[in-house]
Amino acid sequence: MKNKHIPFRMCGGCRNMFEKSELIRVILKDNELLIDDKQKELCRGAYMCKNKECLLLAQKRKVFSNILKSKVPDEFFEELENRIGK
Ligand SMILES: [Zn+2]
Repeated sequence: MKNKHIPFRMCGGCRNMFEKSELIRVILKDNELLIDDKQKELCRGAYMCKNKECLLLAQKRKVFSNILKSKVPDEFFEELENRIGK
C-alpha cells in the first residue's frame, strides 16, 4: 500500500492543524480576495477551518490581513460565514 502524504495546514483562527481538505483557503489574486475552492492557485493563501468561532477570531486578530498583506473587508467575512453555514 502506498503511503499517502496528507498535507496539513494551520487554521488562522484556532491555530490547530487540519487536513487541507477540511479547510477553507483564502487567497489574494491580482489584488482580489478570493475563496480558493480547489486549493490549486499558486499564490499566497491563508487557511481557516469551517468554524464560526474561528472566523470571528480570525477577523478580530486580523489574521487574513496579516498573511495576505491586504485589507479584508467585513463583506468578505460575511461571504466566508455563508460558506461555513452551508
Ligand atoms: Zn479553526
